[in-house]
Amino acid sequence: MAAITLKDINKRYGDGFHAVKNVSLDIADGEFVILVGPSGCGKSTLLRMIVGLEDITSGELRIGDERVNEKAPRDRNLSMVFQNYALYPHLTVYENIAFPLRLAKTPDKEVDERVRRASGLLELDEHLDRKPANLSGGQRQRVAMGRAIVREAQAFLFDEPLSNLDAKLRGQMRTEISRLQKRLGITTVYVTHDQVEAMTLGDRVVVLRRGVVQQVASPRELYENP
Ligand code: ADP
Ligand code: ADP
Repeated sequence: MAAITLKDINKRYGDGFHAVKNVSLDIADGEFVILVGPSGCGKSTLLRMIVGLEDITSGELRIGDERVNEKAPRDRNLSMVFQNYALYPHLTVYENIAFPLRLAKTPDKEVDERVRRASGLLELDEHLDRKPANLSGGQRQRVAMGRAIVREAQAFLFDEPLSNLDAKLRGQMRTEISRLQKRLGITTVYVTHDQVEAMTLGDRVVVLRRGVVQQVASPRELYENP
């Protein structure tokens, strides 16, 4: 868990396009922040700069009290949860959650402790031997989050995780993500173009337009003063 600080962040792509303009934002420890705006407004670019998949042209990014602009993605210890959850179909739930620890050559005993702790928190204990194909969408989402939890990531970053789901499942998942985020208390940045998600999920909503922060408000303030 850590606070994330963006100070005067800019992104110019190689072709000169200025996709993110002077974005400053303080994200508190444990806070759930939504980045919302129309397609092309710079949401993914901003998220990718935070994770380290895209260079920051100018400005400063801090995680906790450390400047991380120059750090490789794996050294930022953030966890990106993608649209399709990127689960391995041939691996069990247990091994899907354990995957980052296996990569890091963590000893079996510790892997077991950490996977069981994560699966307890996520109420996946009964599903550890199953394969992703046999799980519900909500359970798959939890496996993806479990993978982030075992790494003891400092924050979750979501890039439109629900946009491929049907309306009913999307509603269930909204409830689930919000409940889990509160329970885990992990700092979360969540990108969406969906107004309902923006208004129901987070503590704070950042509205982006053409690369500029247009508004920062609580969902309630946005509702009363759109
Ligand atoms: P969003 O996630 O809000 O849909 P993006 O961050 O993907 O927006 O894109 C923001 C703007 O930056 C868009 O105008 C897009 O065309 C442009 N863009 C994104 N990636 C690149 C790139 N690699 N090179 C040039 N322009 C890009
Ligand atoms: P999303 O829908 O998730 O925002 P896009 O389909 O806009 O993603 O972009 C997919 C990929 O294409 C990204 O890696 C992005 O950087 C790249 N891209 C987007 N717009 C441009 C652009 N105008 N020029 C070059 N690459 C781009």
